[in-house]
Amino acid sequence: MAVPTAILLGLAVGSFLNVCIGRLPRGESVVRPRSRCPECGRTIVWYDNVPVVSYLVLGARCRRCRASISARYPVVEILTALIAGVLAVRHGLGPAWAFHLAFAAAMIVLAAIDLDHRILPDSITLNGILIGVLANVYLGAPNPLAQGLLGLAGMEHPHPRVAALVGSLAGLIAGGGLLWAVREAFFRLRGVEGMGLGDVKMMAMVGACLGLPLALLTLVLGSVSGAVIGTIFMRLSGKSRDYELPFGTFLGAGAVVAAVSGNEIVRAYMDGVLPPG
Ligand SMILES: [Zn+2]
Repeated sequence: MAVPTAILLGLAVGSFLNVCIGRLPRGESVVRPRSRCPECGRTIVWYDNVPVVSYLVLGARCRRCRASISARYPVVEILTALIAGVLAVRHGLGPAWAFHLAFAAAMIVLAAIDLDHRILPDSITLNGILIGVLANVYLGAPNPLAQGLLGLAGMEHPHPRVAALVGSLAGLIAGGGLLWAVREAFFRLRGVEGMGLGDVKMMAMVGACLGLPLALLTLVLGSVSGAVIGTIFMRLSGKSRDYELPFGTFLGAGAVVAAVSGNEIVRAYMDGVLPPG
């Protein structure tokens, strides 16, 4: 029953994420008031606010003013539900599931807000760094890389929570630090800012939550997808070279992939690079 339960919970979480995406950039409460139609201001009653179902029943329109409802609402809900389901297969319905779902949810919100406004709110990234470190210590998941590092430093059998703390901090420093170095280099070479500090803080959060290898995987996925999709989009839409790509949107997509199946990707890559045995 874990997976169906996770999917239902994921739909509800996705519905809340839509509220966050709309309200956080405007500094509004995500708890009150109840949702309203942005067009006519009508308070949305509960039976018109059921994830995905209401969107289909209402034919993607407001019940009163018939203004069209963005397809992003059901897309965010379905995406969150799918992620919740896959994570339940991986982790079962426990603390590790809740942490990974919360992380993916934060990445979805950051990706959407960056796409809309080109900002990445500190309220998510800075709190995310703190929660990432604390959650890793609490969960104390095995961390071969951190155990190896501590072994080199003379700690042969570190406590799992100590290894998890070192792994989280290493991810924080590497994720944030690498992007900060790229930002500095770009500024020195070109004299303009090519990237906001928000992206740096977002990558520090990804590193703190997922650890070092997955932070690097996120950077690679985000940069490559951003370069490829960004180039295609600019060609097709005829936007100028000054068009500001929402880098946080691509980082967010990469981070979700890393959170859901990153360990398998890293392992497959290592198997391909390293000689067998
Ligand atoms: Zn309306």
